[in-house]
Amino acid sequence: MLLQILLGFLCGMTALAAENGTAQQGPPLLLVSFDGFRADYLRRFPMPNLKLLYSQGVLVEQLTNVFITKTFPNHYSLVTGLYAESHGILASNMYDPTSHKHFHVTNDTDPMWWNEARPLWITALDSGYKTAAMMWPGSDVVIGNRTATHFFPYNPSVTFQQRLGNVTNWILGNEKEQGVMFAALYWEEPDRSGHIFGPDNDTAMGKALKEVDDNIGLLMSELKRTGLWGRINVLITSDHGMAQCSAERLIRLDDCLHPDNYTLVDLTPVAALIPLKDAEAVFSLLNKCHPHMTAYLKKAIPDRLHYRNNERIQPIILIADEGWTIVQRGDKLPRLGDHGYDNSLPSMHPFLAAMGPSFHRGYRISSLQSVDIYPLMCHMLSVPPQPNNGTFNHARCLLAAETCWDVPLVVGLVVGVLLVLTTITVLFRLFGHRRPSSPRPFQRLQVDDDDDDDPLLE
Ligand code: AMP
Ligand code: ZN
Ligand code: ZN
Repeated sequence: MLLQILLGFLCGMTALAAENGTAQQGPPLLLVSFDGFRADYLRRFPMPNLKLLYSQGVLVEQLTNVFITKTFPNHYSLVTGLYAESHGILASNMYDPTSHKHFHVTNDTDPMWWNEARPLWITALDSGYKTAAMMWPGSDVVIGNRTATHFFPYNPSVTFQQRLGNVTNWILGNEKEQGVMFAALYWEEPDRSGHIFGPDNDTAMGKALKEVDDNIGLLMSELKRTGLWGRINVLITSDHGMAQCSAERLIRLDDCLHPDNYTLVDLTPVAALIPLKDAEAVFSLLNKCHPHMTAYLKKAIPDRLHYRNNERIQPIILIADEGWTIVQRGDKLPRLGDHGYDNSLPSMHPFLAAMGPSFHRGYRISSLQSVDIYPLMCHMLSVPPQPNNGTFNHARCLLAAETCWDVPLVVGLVVGVLLVLTTITVLFRLFGHRRPSSPRPFQRLQVDDDDDDDPLLE
């Protein structure tokens, strides 16, 4: 009874806090992305600091990210929980047929591209929190007339240490400024090295990943130095993986149709085309262009890609097979490594590691959808989630406060117990039957017809 009253009081307090626009203060949350960190780098390279971090927390070995597996769509999905068709950041190069505007990663600050969604650094403001976003795609854009409390204009020459120093100061706050409750931090590696050297280059990728791991070590020591370690929830993840490309695997569009037939919006590994002549005729030429490229009319793009319902998706898209590169002409391979391919490919998947007071310790699961991270973060911050494509229930087992059954373990235990019981019963019956028949001690109790005992009742 007392417990019920106490729970009722606490629920009332939470509702009151939400009404007043201030969520209950839990631990702050830091979301870090190392661009292009393919899940299997964790098995291929030592990464001692990252491994130390998740040995004290949780690891999701593979995240199924969103199509197309490019930087901007996936970073926006992580902070909105939406597939690309729903948040509107569909590629690195886009064309909007209504406004006739063009988007490119170096020309990305027009709010109209981002306004179809609200990232967590904006919605957490409504819960009374201060927020920060450091170099995260979209962080220097005014979205819904607002930005995070703290951000920097994108500048790739700002070092990891400088980014981290600012983020920890913003989380700590000072006498004038309350600390931030949600911060997002972005770093360009190992994506940059993956493009230049290709993910199969063990030496070059080993060096790049050693630097990434050193940065994770820096993050851990900075959190310890500032007293945040153990008081903050840290999520380390990425946007996509990387596939090895080769000059032997080029698909030339000019071999299939003259460029006068279409306008090219984006090229590889997912090309986006606007046909200038009969769309069906252009499609049928592209459809049989190359055995390692699949052409789709917009209306036929498979449901599982969640990449159809948006004006900015062009009438025809071409998807190259893993490791194949689409070019218009020539023999030049633009990059030794690339991403953007089908999001069902393991080479396109990143990972998630997390640690902090809200997470289990030493817990590991094999997979999760990247859109599930958004409802998880909203839950941890007590921020009401915006409509999204994620499911909190998929991610909740990562949290220390949640009790989850390990289904294979439970099934194994039940089957094991049943087997033992069945064996005991069978053995018991077997030995019971084999035992030599003993004299029947109770034979004398058999009722005789002429039993002349006195009745108990007269
Ligand atoms: P991509 O490999 O083409 O999918 O994109 C990765 C590149 O996006 C990085 O190497 C950066 O140059 C660029 N980039 C990452 N974050 C931002 C940002 N916040 N603003 C502008 N460009 C960015
Ligand atoms: Zn990326
Ligand atoms: Zn990249």
